[in-house]
Amino acid sequence: MNKLRTAYFGLLVVTLGLVSCGNSDEHKVDAKFTEYIQRFQDEAAKHGKNLDLINGGLIVEFADLKDGVAGLCHYEKPIRIEIDKTYWDAISKYADADLMKENLLFHELGHGFLGRKHLNSTLENGDWKSIMCGGDKINDRSWNINYHGVRRAYYVDELFNESTVAPTYSSLQLLADTTGYTNVLYRLNFNTALKADAGWDIKETTDYSTTITTDGKLNFKSKINQSYLVSLDTPTTFSSNFSYELTIENLAGNAADQYGIIFGVIPAGSTANNAPIEYFNISNGKKMFMGNRTCYSFFTELDELKILPAGKNKLKVFKIGSMIYYFINNSYVYCSEIVTTASLNKFGFMVPAQGTVLVDNFIISQPKISGAPTRVKQSQPLQFEITPIGSTTQNTVLNQ
Ligand SMILES: [Zn+2]
Repeated sequence: MNKLRTAYFGLLVVTLGLVSCGNSDEHKVDAKFTEYIQRFQDEAAKHGKNLDLINGGLIVEFADLKDGVAGLCHYEKPIRIEIDKTYWDAISKYADADLMKENLLFHELGHGFLGRKHLNSTLENGDWKSIMCGGDKINDRSWNINYHGVRRAYYVDELFNESTVAPTYSSLQLLADTTGYTNVLYRLNFNTALKADAGWDIKETTDYSTTITTDGKLNFKSKINQSYLVSLDTPTTFSSNFSYELTIENLAGNAADQYGIIFGVIPAGSTANNAPIEYFNISNGKKMFMGNRTCYSFFTELDELKILPAGKNKLKVFKIGSMIYYFINNSYVYCSEIVTTASLNKFGFMVPAQGTVLVDNFIISQPKISGAPTRVKQSQPLQFEITPIGSTTQNTVLNQ
């Protein structure tokens, strides 16, 4: 965030300057920030801008910032940046801590040394256009920037050059080949309560219930104030390309409740709560969220008009190489790298707290190998796992 009333602030600085004889060359940077300042300086050099932030005038310090603010840049001499200690400690616990910290420092240094103001426009796929998003909220959208994978290079280029052309991944033109995924490995139609049809045990517990509806869908009802990850353990693990789809309905949920599909792996000794599970959630408020459970928060939040609120939505992903391609009701909407590098064996869905979802047409496929017979392995025994988790949204990124 930049300090809004720059003029008044400038006046204040001048006043303080007269009183305290401030030194514009003062360099006082908490050691926790040095690495990111060095990276910014290196990136600046690559982009034709020579800065001396390692020895020159700069103050970067921890502070206790209020009102959901992660960082503040004060236009003083030298530039002074405050980073909220609570937020820093919170993001430090997650697998993407390094990227989150770089994102935050680069944003504040962008204010201080590149003359960048907040920019809240978006790319064709709905991604924020710039790492400089912030300030006054737009449609109450969270400030989460998908700063992972190929996106980092674009956001850094854009930081130093606002005229950077939109990256190819941001087009809604699908650039991957998703044809030929006709080798169905697992299919569940939920027509009966038999394990081969239903996948999950049909039962009533104090915390949840599963039933098969008269029109052949799995009804999962949560009775607790926590969300559920509901996954099947496939006997075969997936390391190559696959598609995974199901239809899901949340008839009576609040507009903000998130529900959707999950896929990943639960390593030995891990709990599903922090395992590398990818998720692709939607809400009846027509929002889409994607991410990985090891990360601080969802990557970004998108408005998706293809979502049918309280209706039957078909969610489908193709994992092709390192990318996941996301589809809502057969329309391509987004792509992003898969975080999980291990072979996957967990496929399922997410249920909001106290929510009920109806699931149907669960299918995992791979590309058909010519000449090989198509085999459906649904008759193999499937293990399943039902794990309550703290929240579906995890956290949101604070204003920068
Ligand atoms: Zn800012």
